[in-house]
Amino acid sequence: MSARRPATLAELDAGIVACRSCPRLVRWREKVATEKRAAFRDEEYWGRPVPGFGAEEPAILVVGLAPAAHGANRTGRMFTGDRSGDWLFASMHRVGLATQPTSTHVGDGLELIGTRVVAPVRCAPPDNKPTPTEKQRCAPWLDHELRLVGASVRCVVVLGSIGWAATLGAWRRSGWEVPRPQPRFGHGAEAWVGGPHGPGTVRLLGCYHPSQQNTFTGRLTEPMLDDVLGRAAGTLRP
Ligand code: SF4
Repeated sequence: MSARRPATLAELDAGIVACRSCPRLVRWREKVATEKRAAFRDEEYWGRPVPGFGAEEPAILVVGLAPAAHGANRTGRMFTGDRSGDWLFASMHRVGLATQPTSTHVGDGLELIGTRVVAPVRCAPPDNKPTPTEKQRCAPWLDHELRLVGASVRCVVVLGSIGWAATLGAWRRSGWEVPRPQPRFGHGAEAWVGGPHGPGTVRLLGCYHPSQQNTFTGRLTEPMLDDVLGRAAGTLRP
């Protein structure tokens, strides 16, 4: 990634979108975008890294893992156009964090309420599995995003254990308090961590990732997802 420190979200997004630091992921995202899935063969795939989406001064951050090959890598917007996103945005709508329950493409009218969706890896990885080196290379983008939007954040919902580890790492690098022993990931796990406004000021919530692996098997149900996101939505109420 670029060594330049972005001063605004627009600069950050431009830097992310232009990033070609991971040769394997660049090859994969572009191959997928060229070959396409049959159902989307008439669409032009995004085929680039995917920036964050949502409020510029969010009270809530939702941290995923990485774009899906035929989801955000196709549409160019986090969690947009795949089954995980269908689950996530339907739930966010039910609990009052999204203006509509569906998310199909950029410009579909969806707006997030007091919430921003980000990911620790910005390019679609093969089998949804970035390597440790790729995760490390991409981490500074999340650090920059936290620096730019962190002042307003009161709650962070992390979808999955990989995002949990990445978020706590970014938190520490930002100089914010993370309790020891480090909070453990689990569905519904909760911890209070520090933020720009001092120790214990940000609520951290764990949630199973709404991947098909979890939703098809019943490991994650709609009520379970609504429960965690509903707790996060309480942040917006006085
Ligand atoms: S995964 Fe991150 S660091 Fe690697 S090419 Fe994509 S945006 Fe750049």
